[in-house]
Amino acid sequence: MSDNSTDAPVLIAGAGPVGMTTALALHARGVESTILERDPEDRDRSGSRAIYIHGSTLRTLERVHPGLGTRMVDNGLVWPTRHTRWRGKQVFRRTYESLGGTGDIPHFTSVPQEWTEEYMHDALDEVGIDIHWETGVEHVESDADGVYVETADGREWEAEYLVGADGGGSTVRKEIGAEFEGSQSKNHFIIADVEADDDDPLPCERLFHYDAPEVDGRNVMLVPFTGGWRLDIQCFEDDDVEELASDERMSEIAADVMGDRYADRVKWVSTYQFLQVMADTFVDDDRRVLLAGESAHLLAPFGARGMNSGVADADEAASAIAVALDAKHEAVARDEIELFAARRETAAEYNLNAAGQALEYLQGDDPVTVLRKEVAAELADNFEVAGEYLDDAPYGPHDAPPIVSTGNY
Ligand SMILES: Cc1cc2nc3c(=O)[nH]c(=O)nc-3n(C[C@H](O)[C@H](O)[C@H](O)COP(=O)(O)OP(=O)(O)OC[C@H]3O[C@@H](n4cnc5c(N)ncnc54)[C@H](O)[C@@H]3O)c2cc1C
Repeated sequence: MSDNSTDAPVLIAGAGPVGMTTALALHARGVESTILERDPEDRDRSGSRAIYIHGSTLRTLERVHPGLGTRMVDNGLVWPTRHTRWRGKQVFRRTYESLGGTGDIPHFTSVPQEWTEEYMHDALDEVGIDIHWETGVEHVESDADGVYVETADGREWEAEYLVGADGGGSTVRKEIGAEFEGSQSKNHFIIADVEADDDDPLPCERLFHYDAPEVDGRNVMLVPFTGGWRLDIQCFEDDDVEELASDERMSEIAADVMGDRYADRVKWVSTYQFLQVMADTFVDDDRRVLLAGESAHLLAPFGARGMNSGVADADEAASAIAVALDAKHEAVARDEIELFAARRETAAEYNLNAAGQALEYLQGDDPVTVLRKEVAAELADNFEVAGEYLDDAPYGPHDAPPIVSTGNY
């Protein structure tokens, strides 16, 4: 190919949170990159999506672009109370005095993904990295010397490395011949954003309600974020999901669960059957293309491992590429990229398993899980540990993958 359109040694496909983090993490290591994005600049990215940002993610963002992690903290919200109900009755409630975490970074923060992306755009502007909008990657080739990319506008690009951060439908993943393997959730879930009522606010707590009478016995979760609430409903297997997610029904549900004043505050509704999948390889045969974020793995959101682990992928991809670019021998460069793949594939397996445990528990109709929940609900009045089990289990295990030295999701 000729007529190269960039001097940067690294191309990034996708300007979602993972692509933007990759560019910032490369810049922090002295490596310039070019971002190729399929969508137009004025696209709609509404929907709160990745609201729960782990402390480790905030620390990574703060490290690669000082001020970014703390900006998210300053504009985010830390809910202090965990609250769980069972068929209308409180079974667990605990309020924490301290935000946890270290220094300026709390244990987590809750901020809409739209805002996180806006702050990342500002960070890119500050360091002078442009996004090439309406420049979707269509074709990828690689060899021992580098990568060759064609974009939808007909341009050709050459670089030393390409990071595929182009989301769940990733063209880059398909072009390197990698395939998703895994499963799909049985149940549908409805996720809605509901605008907060600052004049008469609800208690600032994360609420999980098993078999909530307000929604005819479905499980409901309510999570606050700055300016709003995530309302999450687990459908029954035989539900008419479209009907349930209609504007009219969601308005009724918001009023029943949150109070009449919320009927007109539903801002965004989406329905999901969650995929639990990862690519069979995170790198190409030539060790020149790396997959990060949802191009590499899709997880059910329980435990909030999606974007959090994508940010970790991005940081580790940047670290591997920076070392590989400086390597004196090709074998050393290959080794760095393989190490990236080994670590992040291990992390993805761990995260998939953790999100899978949460999903299994929520959908669980096996008699042992059902009995365990019933018994815990019976005992919760007298034994806090039983209520805490019901409060904790919907999110799966809390720990990060056992990747030595990073502590990243
Ligand atoms: C309801 C819901 C709740 C969630 N909650 C959480 C949570 O609490 N915590 C959490 O960590 N995660 C959560 N997630 C997951 C999180 O939203 C995703 O993990 C995150 O958006 C993935 O980022 P990404 O950059 O990998 O992909 P995306 O955000 O999908 O970005 C990919 C980008 O690539 C672009 N693109 C696509 N094809 C091409 C191409 N051919 N060429 C160039 N560009 C291309 C797209 O336009 C897009 O800009 C949630 C998700 C959902 C749906």
